[in-house]
Amino acid sequence: MLSRRALNGLAEIASGSRVLTAREDLLTYAGDATPLHRHPPAAVVIPRDAEEVARIVRLANEEGFALVPRGAGSGLSGGAIPIPDSVVLLFPTWNRILEIDEANLTAWVEPGVVTGQLHAAAEAVGLFYPPDPGSMNVCTIGGNVAENAGGLRGLKYGSTKNYVQGLDVVLPTGEGVRLGGKAIKDVAGYNLVDLMVGSEGTLGVFTRILLRLVPKPETVRTMLALYDSVEAAGESVAAIIAGKIVPATLELLDQATIRAVEAFAGLGLPTDLGALLLIEVDGRRHEVEQDAFEIVRLSRIHGARDVRLAASPEEADDLRAARRIAFSALARGGPTVILEDATVPRSAVPEMLRRIQAAGQRHGVTIATFGHAGDGNLHPTCLTDERDPAALARAEAAFEEIFAAALALGGTITGEHGVGLAKRRFLPAQVGDPAVRLMRQIKAVLDPNQVLNPGKIFEPGPRCEHPPLGHRVHERAGRAR
Ligand SMILES: Cc1cc2nc3c(=O)[nH]c(=O)nc-3n(C[C@H](O)[C@H](O)[C@H](O)COP(=O)(O)OP(=O)(O)OC[C@H]3O[C@@H](n4cnc5c(N)ncnc54)[C@H](O)[C@@H]3O)c2cc1C
Repeated sequence: MLSRRALNGLAEIASGSRVLTAREDLLTYAGDATPLHRHPPAAVVIPRDAEEVARIVRLANEEGFALVPRGAGSGLSGGAIPIPDSVVLLFPTWNRILEIDEANLTAWVEPGVVTGQLHAAAEAVGLFYPPDPGSMNVCTIGGNVAENAGGLRGLKYGSTKNYVQGLDVVLPTGEGVRLGGKAIKDVAGYNLVDLMVGSEGTLGVFTRILLRLVPKPETVRTMLALYDSVEAAGESVAAIIAGKIVPATLELLDQATIRAVEAFAGLGLPTDLGALLLIEVDGRRHEVEQDAFEIVRLSRIHGARDVRLAASPEEADDLRAARRIAFSALARGGPTVILEDATVPRSAVPEMLRRIQAAGQRHGVTIATFGHAGDGNLHPTCLTDERDPAALARAEAAFEEIFAAALALGGTITGEHGVGLAKRRFLPAQVGDPAVRLMRQIKAVLDPNQVLNPGKIFEPGPRCEHPPLGHRVHERAGRAR
């Protein structure tokens, strides 16, 4: 329960109906795109500016309630899911691109800018913002920074962390700081920008974000290579990389995903395919043509039944559709869709695909896999029914095996979706207890009262479980006196 004083305090800061407590509003913000986890907050608050965010954070410290920052709620690890009695911080009006600086190749944006909106604005002036999560038409830059989101162009361009150059942050104590800036080289002190990227809403609230842009590639070639088997597709991926070509996009769909896509959208894909690869190369025209030619050649050598090359931007969009709609198509297959992002070094992709299939078969669940084959980031997706405890238990057992396989192959439990609530119990197996302890200590130093999204990434610590270092020094000094 949120105290009357806390509610009054919120209403005073966010005056004019910007504190929502109606049941229907609270239910709207009870979940994100992660299945199996939902909890309504005690209130939702819509701050107007960074000063209001700071005041709300200070109030949370005084009154002892937790805050959960939220972007579009498209997260797949439960980062934006409220914890009991928490208050959701919402940024629906923070959607301005404040500046595109063509001299410095940067953009200052508010956290609520939708990623696709920034793509369009940058491209309109001949620039390019590469991170392109599958959810780019809904997700926000604030959410992308908090999750260090990846995307389909990650193989060549990296993930969000490679583009965050500066941040205005309200810390969990309510202090505002500017980290980083437009200087490309800046090694003054610890790299706090990188600490914030991927912090899943637990270490600070981003109120402005400075992003690096790059020149827009001169041209793009898009192709779809169709295979009888997933092994042949895997061999093509290995051959393309070994051929010293770095496509912008190298995405894989397995047979189950292809069938779902075809049933959903009727794109004309043969349903007896074992796998397909969506491949895009971008850059200078002559290099792109050379690379595209070589990719077609290598794909054929390694067993592609057909390679379709887009002849126009419209055709390219048609070819991309198969990958872009994969999640929606699969979501029709069962009441509950669990989409994971176990990731392995790319040389281990064929073995990982085999192990995913084996885990599904062993536990009697349907698992379709698609994802960023070029960087080893796979999305095994299980169609199940959360109302059936036995089916759910089988799905969970399969995923436990899948995460264990990813770790055994030198990979990770999450390549881009984050740990959040959904995967926190798997974190110690990957990083080990000392590293989890270190993360909790970092959290405790920045957030001594555990007000910012506690319980995400690792189990929540009690308030002040690890008092900030300053407090300990004072305590010791006090004892010595
Ligand atoms: C169909 C589909 C496809 C997807 N494809 C991809 C993909 O290709 N790559 C990928 O990486 N992810 C993908 N995702 C997952 C998701 O879209 C990303 O994690 C995205 O970054 C979340 O952004 P959001 O605005 O929805 O954030 P939310 O889900 O609302 O929040 C995510 C996290 O960000 C924190 N947060 C939000 N705003 C702030 C802020 N201002 N300050 C501090 N913390 C904040 C929240 O507390 C939470 O921890 C996909 C999801 C779906 C449903």
